[in-house]
Amino acid sequence: MIVVTGATGQLGRLVVDGLLESVPADRVAAAVRNPGKAADLAARGVEIREADYERPETLQRAFAPGDTVLLISGDAVGRRLGQHRAVVDAAKAAGVARIAYTSVLYADTTPLALAVDHRGTEEHIRASGIPFTFLRNGFYTEVYAASILQGVEHGAILGSAGDGRIASASRADFAAAAVAVLTGEENGDKIYELSGDTAWSLPELAAEVSAASGRTVVYRDLPHADYRQVLIDTGLPEPAATMYADIDLDVVRGALSPTPGELSALIGRPTTPLRESVAAILKEA
Ligand code: NAP
Repeated sequence: MIVVTGATGQLGRLVVDGLLESVPADRVAAAVRNPGKAADLAARGVEIREADYERPETLQRAFAPGDTVLLISGDAVGRRLGQHRAVVDAAKAAGVARIAYTSVLYADTTPLALAVDHRGTEEHIRASGIPFTFLRNGFYTEVYAASILQGVEHGAILGSAGDGRIASASRADFAAAAVAVLTGEENGDKIYELSGDTAWSLPELAAEVSAASGRTVVYRDLPHADYRQVLIDTGLPEPAATMYADIDLDVVRGALSPTPGELSALIGRPTTPLRESVAAILKEA
């Protein structure tokens, strides 16, 4: 079986959709914390297994010998490492054949604070001895959806990243990479550094939003402390505001700019251009 954890999340649903296009539904299991949210997947023939990263007793029943598991990282930054360790321990105890994990671009060297959990998870997976694939994902373009919509509303995208460049790709591109790994012949341990084919800057994002919306949208670069305060003023809790403002400093340092081309090579097509993702985000709003 191919088992996808976090299958009711946005990435997980795209992965399950992609799997169902290439393997029979009875080979796919969705391991989810809330089976009630997965009724539509069950209706499509996907096996539903309860798997709450916070409840080890559910994890003990979530995997079977020979499974190929995609561990989709959780969203509780700072608490995820313990959660992921519990999943890996359960997968090891069950005797799974392979574990793929959604990590972060250049997890071992990146300055991104959110990489701490990913580094720890990668180390735990390596120590488990389970054959692994690390899908080291760069940023989804959709991460910038709120900035794009605020840009259209207020005429300005705010940030603290200057001309730093971001090689994002669409969430669907990263999902396609996971599908390729889960359905392909992976031997030994593999690490993929996954990012978009073309890096862009926030001033370029503002220009794309202008072109797509027909409204004048500029990029306004703020000092780090001012940007952090803006994020707090818009309602973000202080730790989250600090994390997002710090990400812009890391963008200036080039943490998200590499374009090794591994994502397009893995999915067999170019990654989704910024222009296309901006249009999709505006259309969905
Ligand atoms: P998402 O829509 O927020 O999905 C997160 C998934 O994690 C959901 O399925 C959620 O379950 C599951 N989850 C959270 N806590 C859990 C727990 N205790 N036990 C079991 N499942 C749990 O995020 P996404 O867009 O699919 O992204 C997937 C992951 O990538 C995120 O969780 C985060 O680690 C990372 N991420 C990456 C980027 C990027 O740009 N590369 C951006 C944002 C996030 P429910 O469905 O029950 O809520």
